Amino acid sequence: MPKLAVLYDAGQAVLSTFDLDEVLQRILAIARDYFHLPNVAILLLDKEAQQLCVRSQIGWDAGKDKICLGYHDGITGAAVLKKQPVYAPDVTKDPRYICAAQSTRSELAIPLMVCDEVVGVLDCQSDRVDRFDHETIELLTLFSTQASIALQNAHLYSLERQRARQLEAINTIAQQSTAVMDLEDLLARVCSVIQLAFQVSHVSLLLREEGDLVLRAHQGTLTPCIPPGGRFPVSQEPWGRVIASSGTIIEKDLTTTPEPERLFKESASRMSIPLISFGQTLGVLTLHSSQPNTFRESELQSLESVADICANSIQNAHYVERVKQLAYLDGLTGIFNRRFFELRIMEEIERARRYGTGMAVIMADIDQFKRLNDEFGHLLGDEVLRQVSSLFHQQLRKIDVVCRYGGEEFAILLTQTNAQQAIAIAEKLRRSVESYQFPGVPRTVTISAGVAAFPAHGKSRDEVIRAADNGLYAAKQAGRNRVCLASLARAAAGGQ
Ligand code: GH3
Ligand code: MG
Ligand code: MG
Repeated sequence: MPKLAVLYDAGQAVLSTFDLDEVLQRILAIARDYFHLPNVAILLLDKEAQQLCVRSQIGWDAGKDKICLGYHDGITGAAVLKKQPVYAPDVTKDPRYICAAQSTRSELAIPLMVCDEVVGVLDCQSDRVDRFDHETIELLTLFSTQASIALQNAHLYSLERQRARQLEAINTIAQQSTAVMDLEDLLARVCSVIQLAFQVSHVSLLLREEGDLVLRAHQGTLTPCIPPGGRFPVSQEPWGRVIASSGTIIEKDLTTTPEPERLFKESASRMSIPLISFGQTLGVLTLHSSQPNTFRESELQSLESVADICANSIQNAHYVERVKQLAYLDGLTGIFNRRFFELRIMEEIERARRYGTGMAVIMADIDQFKRLNDEFGHLLGDEVLRQVSSLFHQQLRKIDVVCRYGGEEFAILLTQTNAQQAIAIAEKLRRSVESYQFPGVPRTVTISAGVAAFPAHGKSRDEVIRAADNGLYAAKQAGRNRVCLASLARAAAGGQ
């Protein structure tokens, strides 16, 4: 046996590439060719699943080439247990033998060791009884150390690559979280970055909203069982437990779990990590795999870092939304302010222009409000403003926009509404104020309103607002507590 040549070639194979499968195939090819073995295999140990699984093989019978054996089963399992080569010179007489190829008569299993720990087994089988003599066993054992080195190298290399990928993901998410402030956009990006970096089938983000968990974003290849925006009670497992314990939960096998609880049809295992910011659990980040037993504790640290960044970004985006809202809300009444009205009316006019749907504006002003303040005090005046806002809200559709235009004047945007419909709505508002008994105000409070429609009374924002204002002026002139439509003649003359 050209001993040196075998070891030299094995050494070369190990050094040739970092790709584990390629290295293992080369090593097995050397074993087959030098030792004339019909079937050889390298099985790797899966500690969590307590199994030895065939990673690379030559000559095994079809169907057996991907099998996993119990941790301590077969001749290979005996080698794991003993941390020594185990030889069965005649497999028919060895009760431990598990058949992988019909032609096998003798089998030699050599443990692959890294730092005194078994990481796998080199399994050599021959179609001759007592094929392996002492010298061959010794040489194959030496040879197996090369396979161990290859395994170790490839393992370190893939760990390194995985870490680099995950660090990059953490970096990307951290960057995106400062650049992208729109929450929806951010969540979608986070899902896709995680899916790529951690190479999982699907990623989903569930956020806590008004006592529910809402599926706010997801990305991947699996089929959702609920639509985006679908809700669960916060107590729904496993998220209920994730939130209650503020800890990550790994579910190794979901194949028997009912479909809706799997969230995605093909989900076979998943890992759910709480999104915690300033001690508050905002939601859950869940990674899904179409295979059982996918998630490892070893990935936890990177994923929890990602979840941390996510949680802070979500919190930031919430703050940004809130600040944005505050900038568009009136402090006294809580309804939208003039800035918001001017922004929205542009959008609505654009939409009405594009789809030919029409829109209208009501300008409403409380009559003799100065007198009301003088009679009952400014604080009661404030209360009347709040109650008028709330009366308007109750009378209008959700899609209409009620704003405090300034002082005791309100601007109301009615989408897909023509002038006649707008007059009827304004009249309804006028009546509701007139008939409302404002607490602490022992007399009737009334409003006057002007109505203008796009495009009949104006073709731009300013024209429509001016026309509605003219209608309001006309209502005041005509004695107050009434609704006036903007004059078409005035509108045609440019609202003068
Ligand atoms: P008109 O029927 O012509 O509209 O008479 P008016 O008194 O309602 O109108 P005017 O413009 O003369 O007075 C508006 C008053 O609204 C003056 C101001 O003190 C009062 N006002 C404006 N903003 C507020 C507010 O936030 N709270 C209170 N209480 N009063 C306000
Ligand atoms: Mg007034
Ligand atoms: Mg006024």
